[in-house]
Amino acid sequence: MQTILNRAIDEVRYYSCGYCVNDMRFIVKDRAVKKKEFPAGVFLLHHKKYGYILFDTGYSDMNYKCGIKGKLYNFFNPLKVKKEEEIAVQLQKDGIKPADVKYIILSHLHPDHIGDLRDFPKSKIICSMKCFRQYKKGNIKDLIFTDLLPWDFEKRLYRVRKYDYPTEFFKGYDLFRDGSVILTDISGHAKGQIGAYLPEHEIFLGADAAWGLNLMSKADEMSPPARLVQNNFREYKRSISLLQKLNEAGIKIYLSHDVIYKKDLLNE
Ligand SMILES: [Zn+2]
Repeated sequence: MQTILNRAIDEVRYYSCGYCVNDMRFIVKDRAVKKKEFPAGVFLLHHKKYGYILFDTGYSDMNYKCGIKGKLYNFFNPLKVKKEEEIAVQLQKDGIKPADVKYIILSHLHPDHIGDLRDFPKSKIICSMKCFRQYKKGNIKDLIFTDLLPWDFEKRLYRVRKYDYPTEFFKGYDLFRDGSVILTDISGHAKGQIGAYLPEHEIFLGADAAWGLNLMSKADEMSPPARLVQNNFREYKRSISLLQKLNEAGIKIYLSHDVIYKKDLLNE
C-alpha cells in the first residue's frame, strides 16, 4: 500500500462556490421536500510534479452579468454567490494564487462550472472535444454562456478527443501519462461531460452525472421538465450505471451538487 507521500496526487480538496435553489418537485416526481439548495462544487487536486489542478470553477459574480440569457437562467434556477465564495478568493485565503493553478479541467460548460474561469488567466484549460463542438454550435439550449469564458479560451484550451487508456472499469484519457488522473466520458447530462478518476485514492469526480448520489437510483422517476434539461437521457442512464458500478467496487464518488461537509477529501 502506497503512503500518501509517494502518490502523484497528494491533495484533494472540496470547495463550495455559491449555490442555486431548485424545487425538488421539478426534478423527481412526487417529492415531499420542496426547495433544495444545490451547491456548486469545485475540486482542487495537487499533483507533485504538475502543481494545482481545478476540476470546475463554480459560480462567480460574473454569473449575474450574462445578459438576457443569464437573467432567464437565474429566473428558472435562482443562484446565490458571494464574492468570498468564489473559488479564486477561497484559494487565495488558503495561500494559493491563480497563477499556481496550472490546469483547469472543465467537466462541461454549464454556467455553474465555468463561472470563475476568467479569474485564472494563466491556467491551461481542458475540456472534451464533444463539449467544444457544442460550444462552437452556440445552441441556446446547451446553456453555454460565452460571457463567462476568457477572451483567449480557445488558445488555452486542450481538447480531449480519445478515451483509450484502459482501466478496470472504463476506457479513459490518462491526463499526465502517469495513471494519476484518468478522464472519461460521462455524457448524458451534457454532451461530452467529463468525469475524473483518481485511482491512487479510489475517488471519482462525477460532475453532474446526477444531481445527487441519492438521485442516482431514481433516474426513472425523473420528472419530464428535468429530463428535458438532460442532453441525452439514454446516455444519462448509461453514465449513471457506470457510477453505480464504481460505487459497488468501493470507489468514492463525489458529485458537483451534493452537500459535502469535509474540505480535505484524503483525510477523513
Ligand atoms: Zn450541468
